[in-house]
Amino acid sequence: MVRVREYQRPHTMEEALLLLQREDAVPLAGGQQLLTGESRELGTVVDLQALGLDDIGMKGERLKIGAMVRLQQLVTASHGCALLGEAAQRDGPITYRNAATVGGTIATCDPLSCLLLSLLVLDAEVEVQYVDGVVTVALDKLLDNPSRWLQNGLITAVTVIPVTVHTAMTTVARTLRDRPIVAVAVRIVRQGEHCDLVRIAWGGVAKHPLRAYAVEQALSGQRLDDALIETTGASAVAELQLHSDFRGSADYRRAMVAVLTRRALWEAWLKAA
Ligand SMILES: Cc1cc2nc3c(=O)[nH]c(=O)nc-3n(C[C@H](O)[C@H](O)[C@H](O)COP(=O)(O)OP(=O)(O)OC[C@H]3O[C@@H](n4cnc5c(N)ncnc54)[C@H](O)[C@@H]3O)c2cc1C
Repeated sequence: MVRVREYQRPHTMEEALLLLQREDAVPLAGGQQLLTGESRELGTVVDLQALGLDDIGMKGERLKIGAMVRLQQLVTASHGCALLGEAAQRDGPITYRNAATVGGTIATCDPLSCLLLSLLVLDAEVEVQYVDGVVTVALDKLLDNPSRWLQNGLITAVTVIPVTVHTAMTTVARTLRDRPIVAVAVRIVRQGEHCDLVRIAWGGVAKHPLRAYAVEQALSGQRLDDALIETTGASAVAELQLHSDFRGSADYRRAMVAVLTRRALWEAWLKAA
């Protein structure tokens, strides 16, 4: 059981940031990680529910999603971004999605989150609020070093490119309801018979979701074909430090990430035609 020493529910960002200055303070979003798991004691828990961070709407040309938006909100209204709704739905059962938030999922860098993969291929930028202002950081940079960005900061929102097509997501899991062993998301912008822009994100292959930069670069400006995907994919996958666990072995992950990447690329390529 998780024991909470002090519970606070601030109504302004200033109040929240002040409370989070305390050494023992921790932000509480949906509580799906913070209030579960092994028995431990938490100091000051700062509930983010009353801060008004649960809006979704356009900000210029980008879709802005508040940190406290629940995953289920994206499923019911993905605001023209079908991939987000599909990804959020894959992340867990409805009881989980009704509580878990976008900000909490980003902060935990959940390696198996399909939502994080979809955000990565939609060029997500995360807004982090500090006492002295807001900083916008690319999601892949934050996932690479979360403590650097979140030690004294609070995620307030994430913005993405709102694309309705040209995307695909493939996963492999032990059962339909289980979390994925490996998951892949892709976005392609096609210029005739060539890839103008390619985004690929991999989940289940590292301690957080990754962008497959080497493969993206190799395919950019090229005509998609199986041999090219195979060779570029194989060298990128060879560099991954894959792990084995109760869901699957490192060798299985290696094989699957190649297969799923090829499938997702072709699906997005055809949609982009
Ligand atoms: C079946 C299942 C099992 C899972 N198992 C695990 C697991 O074992 N380990 C794991 O890490 N994840 C796990 N996850 C994923 C995890 O639950 C989610 O990634 C995330 O916790 C959900 O967000 P939340 O809103 O419930 O976050 P919370 O549980 O409220 O918070 C999670 C963490 O993020 C911080 N945080 C929350 N919001 C913000 C914010 N706006 N700014 C800065 N920091 C913030 C909190 O302080 C806390 O440290 C699992 C998910 C599923 C579906």
